[in-house]
Amino acid sequence: MEDCLFCKIAAGQIPSTIVYQDEDVVAFKDINPQAPHHVLLIPRRHIASMAALTSEDGAILASLFTVAQKLAHDFKIDETGYRFVTNVGPDAGQSVFHLHFHLLGGRALGWPPG
Ligand code: 5GP
Ligand code: ZN
Repeated sequence: MEDCLFCKIAAGQIPSTIVYQDEDVVAFKDINPQAPHHVLLIPRRHIASMAALTSEDGAILASLFTVAQKLAHDFKIDETGYRFVTNVGPDAGQSVFHLHFHLLGGRALGWPPG
């Protein structure tokens, strides 16, 4: 989609530190990390948010979760623990309207989030 920041990152039109990519999923470091490990995982295909998902999107969700699991293992946070979250809409503070999951780890994470 034109003028979508994360579509441009996925296409390599805006620089980012990509830590994983395949034909469906891209994972890159968050520009403003909130933990020692803070990566964003996105589908290459533009989906505005979790609210726009349909039952057809099961395969891409499975890919996002299994890539996150692999990265957590690579970052050696699979034993200490990590969080995998997506923000939806204003109350959650969603600021980029291309579906993304935050993978956060490397420190104790508070709960509930502020
Ligand atoms: P949201 O608040 O929508 O859940 O998360 C958006 C995330 O995207 C934020 O954590 C923010 O730091 C990150 N972000 C915003 N612009 C850029 C950018 O240009 N590059 C990267 N790597 N991350 C970005
Ligand atoms: Zn997009």
